[in-house]
Amino acid sequence: MRREWDLNPRCPLDTTVFETVRFGRSRTPPDGREHTRVGSLAHDRHSSPPTPSYALASTVENRWASVSAMGSPYEKGAVEVADGVWAYLQPDGSWGWSNAGLVHGSAGSLLVDTLFDLKLTAEMLAELRRVATADAPITTVVNTHANGDHCYGNSLLAEAQIIASTACAEEMAKSPASELAEMMAHTPEMGATGRFLERIFGVFDFEGIEPVAPSTTFDGELELSVGDRRVALMEVGPAHTGGDVIVYLPDERVVFTGDIVFHGGHPIVWAGPVANWVDACKRLASLDLSVIVPGHGPLAGPSVLDDLVGYFEWLTAEAGERFRSGLSAPEAAADIGTGPYSGWTDAERMAVNVRAVYRDLGATLEMRRGSGGSVFDAMAGLYWRANS
Ligand SMILES: [Zn+2]
Repeated sequence: MRREWDLNPRCPLDTTVFETVRFGRSRTPPDGREHTRVGSLAHDRHSSPPTPSYALASTVENRWASVSAMGSPYEKGAVEVADGVWAYLQPDGSWGWSNAGLVHGSAGSLLVDTLFDLKLTAEMLAELRRVATADAPITTVVNTHANGDHCYGNSLLAEAQIIASTACAEEMAKSPASELAEMMAHTPEMGATGRFLERIFGVFDFEGIEPVAPSTTFDGELELSVGDRRVALMEVGPAHTGGDVIVYLPDERVVFTGDIVFHGGHPIVWAGPVANWVDACKRLASLDLSVIVPGHGPLAGPSVLDDLVGYFEWLTAEAGERFRSGLSAPEAAADIGTGPYSGWTDAERMAVNVRAVYRDLGATLEMRRGSGGSVFDAMAGLYWRANS
């Protein structure tokens, strides 16, 4: 059974600056409507995920072993993860280096996410045309969430149907590439924060990117057909952002997780609550899966979900302890360090993640910010402390 499309007119652009990072915390479904369920597609192979372990030395090893078991080295470009289903990977998976996906259909193909700028997206589309879409052009795009590294290339596919959750579409309207371009134009005046931003975003080109909003939005779940393939879109946010969606192919046992899964790097909790993200991991773990295409990092097997749940349990325990001791979030982030996660990239995201736990615990704004400024100021502080 398939529900009718919700047509979403393009939203006007918000002119507030990106720097404030206004991802919503939580959301009530705006319409209270019933939604088509695709739960029957989920084979409950695992009723609950295995107990996560903090002993990461072994899980890191296992994770990489699972990648090599798939026979797919972590290299830039398209890799076929099931017959006619492709992942497009961008090492090293750090800031902005996101993955995308392609589901080949007889009459038209579905693309999961565009990339951070037009050049990278054009490069990806050219490669996908070479390996998969010459006989079945991309007619549908799914944006897994509103971060620019998953949607700023939309204008190159403006003729396609572009699908996202309602919450994602609302966030996309508030964070166009022009705001990031504006912020990057001012990095020389932003001191340590500006140097940090240049380090993580300086290689991308945000100039001249026209925002293209989703043409179709949904809440909850949506089942699609791509040729004769079943594709289930499941909204699992708010977690990483307000409107996170995963794209599941039950017959191929492949899932494109967007940024619900970071593999090999710290996740970043823009929206939360953290408990929702843990629930999203458990929901993923309940699916019948052979390949997980993460939003960032190499292909993974289900064990990556245990690692993430373990990370969030550790984060919540460590940040909660310091919250109860009266430390501000920046003080707590500095005090916690990276614990057993020193091998994961982008450790400065702890500044944002500790704030998220504090928010979940009802901390005052003063406790969340301490003497720090924006989230980018806070991350820059941790970054230069570790890298200067
Ligand atoms: Zn991303």
